[in-house]
Formats: sequence, structure tokens, C-alpha cells
Amino acid sequence: MPVIFAERRNTGRLDLEAVELALRTALHTGGAAGLGALLRQQGPIPSSVPCRCGGQARYKDMRSKPLLTVLGRSEVLRAYYWCSRCCQGQFPTDTTGDIEGTEFSPGVRRMLALVGSECSSFERGRQQMELLADLEVTTKAVERVTEAIGDDIARCEQQTIQQAMQLELPVAVGQSTPVMYVQVDGTGVPMVPKEIEGRSGKGEDGRAHSREVKLGCVFTQTATDDQGRPVRDEDSTTYAGAIETAAQFSCRIYTEAHQRGWSRAQKKVMMGDGADWIWNLCQEQFPGAVQIVDLYHARQHLWDLGGKLHPHDETAKQRWVMTHQHLLENGEIEKLVTKLRTLSPANAELAAALRTEANYFERNAERMRYPEFRSQGLFVGSGVIEAGCKTLIGSRLKRSGMFWTLRGANAVIALRCSRYSRRFDDYWESRRR
Ligand SMILES: [Zn+2]
Repeated sequence: MPVIFAERRNTGRLDLEAVELALRTALHTGGAAGLGALLRQQGPIPSSVPCRCGGQARYKDMRSKPLLTVLGRSEVLRAYYWCSRCCQGQFPTDTTGDIEGTEFSPGVRRMLALVGSECSSFERGRQQMELLADLEVTTKAVERVTEAIGDDIARCEQQTIQQAMQLELPVAVGQSTPVMYVQVDGTGVPMVPKEIEGRSGKGEDGRAHSREVKLGCVFTQTATDDQGRPVRDEDSTTYAGAIETAAQFSCRIYTEAHQRGWSRAQKKVMMGDGADWIWNLCQEQFPGAVQIVDLYHARQHLWDLGGKLHPHDETAKQRWVMTHQHLLENGEIEKLVTKLRTLSPANAELAAALRTEANYFERNAERMRYPEFRSQGLFVGSGVIEAGCKTLIGSRLKRSGMFWTLRGANAVIALRCSRYSRRFDDYWESRRR
């Protein structure tokens, strides 16, 4: 500060940025000192408190610990209790203040979870904390707190899923929606070696280098535009996902849809790519739903096949895709399959690829009657889950040089699903209770 004032006297100039940042630091320092006074437990201190074991814990002494608050470094001083029955100690005010087992205040932890899940890396998060909040933390601290909060969100979700599976979840009340969609997809996330040991996969050595995140979204549609095209309800999309088995995920997405009022939707639609696990899941959890293979995914199959048939001729590839794509768009899947089956290339690998694709279209034919779905005013491809895989998962978990542990990845996925579903604030509020 004195330097700033001296410069102003000498040059008449005010370096606003230097002043505002210096003032912020000064105000923080003063604030942290004031907060420190508030964080010294005062008033009558009970001589004993109830212990979790059912016994009584007796007051021992006052103990302090450092606490990083939104105003900077501070310290809490609070009563420590010891239970001789179960030999456990406790700080009751740490529990009520939500600072149990941590040296970061709730306000700081909320920021850490935000930057840790939103920034491209934990290190970027650390930098943002310094610039935006004037708080110095380690990269590891950003990671640890993000993981701990993500873990807790995942734990709460598991409780809800258990309730839903035991049919103990209250039925969502409110107006019924004309159309509700559930859309599901998978995308790989690179893992550290220990998480993929012994798993076979698509890597060049035949081993897995990533594990699949199963991601689902639920959204609603009330209206169609003046040309009869479906319109997705604004802010109606919520997400659920994790690296887990198809069976576990099917409970997760069922719970998500159920909470959104699936049972009251007038029309129910399940969308996905052609993957078998998705339709098995649909059969099991969403019987009676209209099943649609996302048109974008189906088109991609034709483009991939076109590339294999005409690897060195872009024009020929495009021509091939165009002549087959209209069959797909018109829902004339039988014709498309026949066309694929009549091709008989000499190359065995290519012939196998053609068979696989012909089977794919044949198996999913009823889910590709696009004109019929369109005439009902339904989406035939939404791009919602596609975008979800890219932005919710890819932009945070699939950056180059990044390798995840299962726990770390699932914690960040839980946090990001919560934020993208606009539920994080509710979760955070519920921690106070
Ligand atoms: Zn006890």
C-alpha cells in the first residue's frame, strides 16, 4: 500500500489493478483475523456430549487447527471430547460447522469442488483459486476436496437408487409431460494401468487403456414447432452416469427417469445407439417405451462403412453414403440390408465388416422407422447425449496425458452430472442439515 500511495504522489497515476488487488488482500487479512475471533468456541462448554456408541464423551481440552477460509488463513479453537467406552474422540463443533476432518472451510471447499470439476485440470483449478479468490492452495488439495465432495454426491445418489429399487421413493408430483425421453450412450475414459489390469480392450496390444463411462440423460418435450419438428423443453435435461456395470447403470438411469416423473409421462421414448446392453436395459427398466436408434449414430455406421469400402476415394465414399443414407432416413431398412448383403468384396475383413453392419441394421430395423417417428412429432436423433459425452465427460476427463483412477473419475463424473443437472446447490444446502 505505501508503495502505491508513494507512486501516486510522485506521478499522479493510480495503478487501479494493483490497488484493487492490494486492497482485497488487506481486507482479507483483516477479515480472517475477525473470523478467527469468531472461531474460538466461547460460552459455556458442556462437560460431556453424547457419543455415537451410545455412551457419553467427556470434555478433555481445547484444541486448535488451521482453517483456510474464503478470507484466507485462520484458525479454529474448539472443545475436544473423549469417549472412554469406545475410545473415540470428537469435536462436536467441527461436525455442526461441516469442517470435520478437513482444514478447508465450507466456502472454500465449494470453490475447490467448482474449479476441480469445471477447469480442464486440477492444476488449472489451483491457478483459478489464486487469481479469482486470492487463495493459495496446492494442486493436490484441489484434487482431494473435489474427490471427497464427488464421492459424497455419489454416496447420496446410491442411497436414492437403493430407495428407488425398493420402491420406496416418493412418486414425483407435478404436471405430467407429453413426451419424456431417456437417452443413453457410452464413452471411454483413459485410466491408470492398475485400473485396467487384465481387461481386454481395443488397444493395439489387445489390452484396454480406458474404461467406459455410461452416461444417460432425461429430457422432455411439450411442443413441436410450426413445421411439426419436436422442440426440447428448455432446461429440462438432467444427467446420470458412472463407470459401472450395465446392471448398476440400469438402476441409476431408472432412478433418474423415475424422479423426473417417468410414470406420469404420456409418451415415453428410449433413444440410444445400437448397443445391445442399452436395449436390454430398456426391456428391463422401461418396458413399453418407444425405442429409437439415434439417427446420428445410425448415419455414422454408414459413414464408417463407406470409408472402409472406399478408403482412398472421398468422392466415391460420399456418393456411396448418399445413395444408402436415404434408405435409412426413409426407414427402408430391409432394402438397405439387402443392398449391404449383395455386396461381396474379395477382402475377407471387409466382408466381415459388411456382415456386421447388415446385422446391425437388421437387428434394429424396428427402431429405425424414422418417418413414422417423425409423423408422431418425436425426435429421431437429439444430439443431447452426444453433446453430453463431449462436454460433460470428454472436456474434463479425456484430455491428453490424463489418466484416472476409478474413484477419481467417478467422483468427478458425479460432481459434473450434479452441476449439469442444476442440482449441486441443493446438494450443498442439504449438507447443512
Ligand atoms: Zn463412544
